[in-house]
Parts: sequence; structure tokens; C-alpha cells
Amino acid sequence: MKPFEYERAGDIGEALELLRAHGPGARILAGGQSLLPMLNLGLYEPDILIDIGSIPRLSDIEVSGDALVIGAMTRQRSVELDDTVRSRQPLLADAIGHVGNTRVRNIGTVGGSIVHNDPAAELPLVMVVLDANYELTDGVSRRKVKAEDFGVGSFETSIREGEVLTAVEVPTLASDWRWGFREFSYRPGDFAVAAAAVIARFEGNELAEVQVGITGVGGGPVRCASFEEAATGRSVDQLGEIESLVTTEVDYVMEGLESSEYRAHIAGVMTTRAIVDAFERSREDNRS
Ligand SMILES: Cc1cc2nc3c(=O)[nH]c(=O)nc-3n(C[C@H](O)[C@H](O)[C@H](O)COP(=O)(O)OP(=O)(O)OC[C@H]3O[C@@H](n4cnc5c(N)ncnc54)[C@H](O)[C@@H]3O)c2cc1C
Repeated sequence: MKPFEYERAGDIGEALELLRAHGPGARILAGGQSLLPMLNLGLYEPDILIDIGSIPRLSDIEVSGDALVIGAMTRQRSVELDDTVRSRQPLLADAIGHVGNTRVRNIGTVGGSIVHNDPAAELPLVMVVLDANYELTDGVSRRKVKAEDFGVGSFETSIREGEVLTAVEVPTLASDWRWGFREFSYRPGDFAVAAAAVIARFEGNELAEVQVGITGVGGGPVRCASFEEAATGRSVDQLGEIESLVTTEVDYVMEGLESSEYRAHIAGVMTTRAIVDAFERSREDNRS
């Protein structure tokens, strides 16, 4: 491993100043759960790591109108256990519980997962399904980017040199919407072969509105627009017929240990099951 410097930034201004001073040789260090393995494998060779772990307020979770604003340095486990997140956006709290294991989530951060953009990661998927926004700054200007526009491919995002992700703005779940999350992996804690996240509103047995995304199949999370359109107005027990539409927006279904056909099939099955879970939640709430 190439030697590198290490600096702990005391505030966001200092982190941005260090990024500016060191240019492309600088990298932000958050929880290090992805960055350190990349360094060990020689995939990154930074001149300096800028640790943002001590910056005040980057780990806050706040409610702002109909959204949760979650600081980029918030540990994944804190989000999973936060009562406000669990009640206002239960899809996020549930999905984040599928990331690695408790040790990883205790250290790994929301921002780190989003910027790392692993093609099978749970957090970027949920953000795309919920129409979340990311707040970025380079110290001169701030910008908001829609989650769907942020990932540009496997381990690649549209973050610019010198920028830091400071927070994510996640819409809360409206009272008449329900949610579902399903993931298929070989062992608990493994990255998903495929996963699906869903929010939906039901009228009787039918889907009145639905937002669906899948991960594990393409270069990152995919919003399934064709499936959403076909599913709207359809009865929950007829979803199997249109399952294969979930991969319409995927350019190329990844192959790994599994064939691309198998992965696509699993993504469809996970989607249907996630919608059925959302439907069951809706029925339970109507009963009580
Ligand atoms: C054993 C193991 C199992 C795992 N399983 C899963 C899994 O099932 N699902 C899953 O999604 N992930 C999994 N992960 C990855 C985990 O979620 C990481 O925590 C996450 O990918 C990176 O978060 P981090 O805070 O550790 O970021 P780091 O590793 O510190 O950083 C990751 C990248 O993001 C950049 N970065 C970090 N924060 C910012 C910021 N605020 N602004 C700009 N750039 C930033 C860094 O420069 C680096 O390039 C696993 C990791 C391990 C070690």
C-alpha cells in the first residue's frame, strides 16, 4: 500500500479546505468500511485521507416538514434504531438493517454507503425509491441532487472533485402509503443477489400508486418505471404476470455466481413479495 497522510477535520470548512489543497489525491474517510478494503486491495492510492468523523452536526437526524434530514456521518445502526426514522420512514429503518452485520453498521455511515455506490447496496436503492435528495457542497456552492441522478454506474457517482456529501433528505411515508422490502442473499449479512424496495397505496385489493426499485441486477439501484405503470390499477394477486417487467430499465443484468436470467427472476420475485408485504400491512392497519 502506498503511504498516505491522515488529517482529522474539525469542521466542514476545514475538510473542504483540505480537499481543495490536495485535489484528486485527497479522499474523505467516513466509517472506512469500504474505503479501507479498497486501499488494502490497491484500488485507491490517495495522498491523504481526510477524516470527517469528528465534525459536529454531520450525524444529526432531524425532521424538516415532510422529510427527514439525515447527516452524512450518521452511523447506519443509529438510523436503524432511531424511533423517528422507524415511525416516519420504516422502509429506510428496515432496509438498513440488511446492511452487512451489526459491527459494520455500527461503524459504516449513510453518506459512505451512498458515495461508495456498491451495485448491490441497500441504502442507495431505498433513496431512489423514496425520491430522496442529496445535499453536497464544495465550500463555494451547495447543490441538491436527486438520488436517481447521483449514481452513474457501479461504484461511480456524479460527486465532483472537492465536494462532500453533507446530508440526505428523505421524504417521510404518507399516512395512506405502506412499504415492503425483500432481499435474497445466500447468508444473512451477505450482499444481496437481488433486493426490492417498495412503497404503495392500495384501494381495496388494487395498487392505486406504487414506487418500486431493485438492486443487485444492474450497475446500481434501478427505479422500475415500466413495472410501476403496469402494476398501477392491478390486483395484488395478478402481479406475477408482470414480474419480468422489473428489469425493463436495466441495460445489462449482471452475472456473478448466478446467470443474468436467474438474477432477473429473483428481482421480480422479491418485488412481488415486497408488494404483498405492503398489502398485508395495509390490511392489518384497516383491521385495527
Ligand atoms: C463485512 C462487510 C459487509 C458489508 N455488507 C454490506 C451490505 O450487505 N450492504 C451494503 O450496502 N454495504 C455493505 N458493506 C459496506 C458498508 O455499508 C459501508 O459502511 C459503506 O459502503 C461505506 O460507508 P463508510 O462510512 O464505511 O464509508 P468509507 O468506507 O469511509 O467511504 C466510502 C467511500 O465514500 C467516500 N465518502 C464517504 N463519506 C463521504 C462524504 N460524506 N462525502 C464524500 N465522500 C464520502 C469515501 O471517500 C470513499 O470513497 C459491508 C462492509 C463490510 C466490511
